[in-house]
Amino acid sequence: MTGSVHSWDISTGVDGPGTRFVVFTAGCPLRCLYCHNPDTWQRRGGTPTTADELMARIGRYRRFIEVSGGGVTLSGGEPLQQPAFTGEILRRCRELGLHTALDTSGFLGDRATDAMLADTDLVLLDVKSWDPALYRRVTGNRLAPTLRFARRLAELGTPAWIRFVLVPGLTDAEDNVEGLAAFAAALPNVEHVDVLPYHRMAEHKYAELGLPYPLPDIEPPDAALLERVHAQFRAHGVTSR
Ligand code: SF4
Repeated sequence: MTGSVHSWDISTGVDGPGTRFVVFTAGCPLRCLYCHNPDTWQRRGGTPTTADELMARIGRYRRFIEVSGGGVTLSGGEPLQQPAFTGEILRRCRELGLHTALDTSGFLGDRATDAMLADTDLVLLDVKSWDPALYRRVTGNRLAPTLRFARRLAELGTPAWIRFVLVPGLTDAEDNVEGLAAFAAALPNVEHVDVLPYHRMAEHKYAELGLPYPLPDIEPPDAALLERVHAQFRAHGVTSR
């Protein structure tokens, strides 16, 4: 079993509970205007990596991540673009007793089998926008598969964190946030929403790839905008952070 892996990293606090071994798979069907990992878009840009190789690497960090109450997060790119490989890694991590998380846009959620989700302790579901037309503008694709996947996770009772990137002038419209807050409030499996402030730290990656930076005139959100958005989630009884 071989997958295409862009890279791996250790993170704390953002990609699931505790300290995480994060696997960035290569390949993504979306093209988010604010993507900070454009270097993961192409599957052929990754390194062919066997499940055995990856599990050996994870094994070296096992004690370290266990002590912190952490685990392993499959991210990308889009890990569901390689569902067999992703499922295998989740299954083998589960066998080791490691906490497992899947970071996905949900666009390819239909490729996640029930068995794969049974091996997944937490889904980090990136909902790029609530408004379908805006979702298409932001990602180049359709919103419906993500919402279908979100409802399926709720039916299965799979814990989820929703992630929403707040981009001034793009995703910050009150109606857009309002719709997402109401949707999240209706899903009992959603533990909280992470409001991720847009940043420009990936600008150099676009330059290195010879790509134009898609949002050249947009700055990160200020404190007042962040507070307004958090207040909208609070008004729906949704914890946001
Ligand atoms: S889904 Fe993630 S990796 Fe893919 S384009 Fe969007 S932000 Fe980038």
